[in-house]
Amino acid sequence: MTERSLEGQHAVITGGSRGIGKAIARALIAYGAQVTIIGRSAERLQVAAADLAVDGAVQTITADVTQPEAVQQAFAAASPSGPIHILVNNAGNAESAPFRRTGYDLWERMIQTNLTSTYLCTQAVVPGMVDRGYGRIVNIASTAALKGYAYVTAYCAAKHGVLGLTRALALELATSGVTVNAVCPGYTDTGMLADAVANVAQRTGRSEQDARAEFVRTNPQGRLVKPEEVAHSVLWLCLPGSDALTGQAIAVAGGEVG
Ligand code: NDP
Repeated sequence: MTERSLEGQHAVITGGSRGIGKAIARALIAYGAQVTIIGRSAERLQVAAADLAVDGAVQTITADVTQPEAVQQAFAAASPSGPIHILVNNAGNAESAPFRRTGYDLWERMIQTNLTSTYLCTQAVVPGMVDRGYGRIVNIASTAALKGYAYVTAYCAAKHGVLGLTRALALELATSGVTVNAVCPGYTDTGMLADAVANVAQRTGRSEQDARAEFVRTNPQGRLVKPEEVAHSVLWLCLPGSDALTGQAIAVAGGEVG
């Protein structure tokens, strides 16, 4: 295995403009992949691409991955960079609320952003991957796919759904050369986590420092996960030698889940 191991491969990363997705883009580029990042904000994508770009290795596509037509157009627009070998379904969002205040809008948002987006983007790449006899699909789920947390029923349901899709599709594609896995981060130091900290502080009247400490306490290592650590697991699943790994849920969470 060398730092050019992914040369000639095209990776599409949803939500690649910041946080975990951007770290994944950086890791795959470092190993030679051509990368397409998708997000809703063209401005954020441009900033990320300028930061990541090495020899034009980054293509950006503005799209909302919860919308079927937008996904179709996005994947058609991605194809000039070559057939897609790697899909990382990373775009997602977490909103919290007690169950009795989890209205239909919040429920729909969580299912659409975390689960339906994964379904739509995976549908867009599977036929080509199966025809070519090769593909790597990595779904960024969460420890919330492996256990429950209070006040996030919709997010937990959506992420458990992502894991169900991962396991079932891995079996369906087991002999095709396409692997399907989930990476399940614990609380990771990104903008999404900063929003969650601010939200807890605002709702409870505690300081942001106290609210952040509560997230840190869930991790037996006593710290937040780094986006680069999640990216490292994704990279490993995409490198040569990982062909027998499929249908797995890999927790990157400092030992929070067994
Ligand atoms: P961020 O909020 O930092 O980044 C989210 C990315 O997704 C952005 O690039 C955003 O760009 C994009 N995105 C969001 N919604 C859409 C959409 N509908 N269509 C297209 N792009 C979209 O999140 P993180 O990096 O923290 O999280 C990434 C993934 O990791 C998520 O699936 C999350 O659930 C999961 N995760 C995160 C954890 C954490 O503690 N941070 C823990 C466990 C799992 P834009 O807004 O411009 O569309």
